Amino acid sequence: MRYFQEKAETMPVSEIRKMQSEKLVKQVRHVYDHVEPYRRKMDAAGVKPEDIHGVEDLHRLPFVSKDDLREEYPKGFLAVPQRDCVRIQSTSGTTGRRVVAFYTQHDVDLWEECCARAIVAAGGTPDDVVQVAYGYGLFTGGAGLNGGSHKVGCLTLPMSSGNTDRQIQFMMDLGATFLCCTPSYAAYLAESMKERGIAPEQNPLKAGIFGAEPWTEEMRQAIEKSLGIKAYDIYGLTETSGPGVAFECQAQQGMHINEDHFIAEIIDPKTGEVLPEGSKGELVFTSLDKEAFPLLRYRTKDICILSRQKCSCGRSFIRMTKPMGRSDDMLIIRGVNVFPSQIETVLLKEGYTPNYQIVVDRVNNSDTFDILVEMDEEMFGDTVSAITGREKALVAAMRSMLGIGPAVHLVAPHSIERSEGKAVRVVDKRKLISEAKWLTK
Ligand code: ADP
Ligand code: ZN
Repeated sequence: MRYFQEKAETMPVSEIRKMQSEKLVKQVRHVYDHVEPYRRKMDAAGVKPEDIHGVEDLHRLPFVSKDDLREEYPKGFLAVPQRDCVRIQSTSGTTGRRVVAFYTQHDVDLWEECCARAIVAAGGTPDDVVQVAYGYGLFTGGAGLNGGSHKVGCLTLPMSSGNTDRQIQFMMDLGATFLCCTPSYAAYLAESMKERGIAPEQNPLKAGIFGAEPWTEEMRQAIEKSLGIKAYDIYGLTETSGPGVAFECQAQQGMHINEDHFIAEIIDPKTGEVLPEGSKGELVFTSLDKEAFPLLRYRTKDICILSRQKCSCGRSFIRMTKPMGRSDDMLIIRGVNVFPSQIETVLLKEGYTPNYQIVVDRVNNSDTFDILVEMDEEMFGDTVSAITGREKALVAAMRSMLGIGPAVHLVAPHSIERSEGKAVRVVDKRKLISEAKWLTK
């Protein structure tokens, strides 16, 4: 089994373009007729659905950003009657206003097919046992890979995240051959298995599909070695359905974008200008087949490069490099989206000054997350136990805002360096960006 849907995955580029053009015309009409906020944007830009004849007109359409979706929370971008929907998922970050994505059964099927393509591209067949250790629930990781595994016909272990002892026991007892989780959890599992005296060749795994957060080539090698497997990347975001928008094949050289369902563009994040293939810039997606939550020219904020270089796997879909950073200040910590502005909101609400610093690092393949917060003179005069109490209260407030708990350290007044220009709010010591060595210049 080389492909899950061979015809689509190996379609000649000229046919992909033709198919995209036909679908785009319909998708634009659907959005214009049913998504009021986007209709307003198109009207403001002076573009009508009948102006869009194909991919060559895509650049005329206005962009959609995460802020647009937040403003229209929860249903402003819903394009079908709610009774036609069967599911929601939501982004991991919580700014009070999350992004909620809706799915019809057709949308769920397409998404799961994309994930099935990823599993087959990584060598999966119905003989495989797939351990899904992404979180289940609102997060798209668990649901997406679970559905993809069913579609391939694999025996699926819906483990969800956490409970490492049980993960290892089921993996060993049920003979899991595929592991799907975040790369950091894969590394953590590897380490835990080592501690339990399980050597890489003793586990039944042969491959893993890891994504939802940035990871490097070096980390891939470390995971492959410590688990004795092949490790493949998978990319996606809730707004575009979830993981599986792009997936790696056995060449392990960039991720193929499912171009029969999405058009990818690279733009200059400052000017919005479309850049030619091979340029580094912000990735923008247009959905082609979505019913409930179709998005035209959605700005992902992920910086990467697209390439049409031929791939040895035979797939014709364009490839994207691993994301090489973001055009906004969003951090992904332990798989959770964190914006410094959320932290600032909590601090101000709790009566602190906005003098703080976020320090993120990766120790033993797992993210550490510390926030240094300055006290004012009055707090500084408090007893040690009062200060400890304040730290605990802040951790709780942060946890409820962010969904993960940082370590909070209250520090003396004026101890955080003031900067002349833009304050250095984030110190990210993780080295998460790797070059795409497979790209020929
Ligand atoms: P999801 O629920 O799919 O994680 P989110 O909307 O919470 O979706 O997060 C999406 C973001 O996660 C992407 O915009 C990107 O920054 C990051 N991401 C997802 N997959 C990968 C990956 N394979 N490598 C690097 N970053 C990734
Ligand atoms: Zn390939």
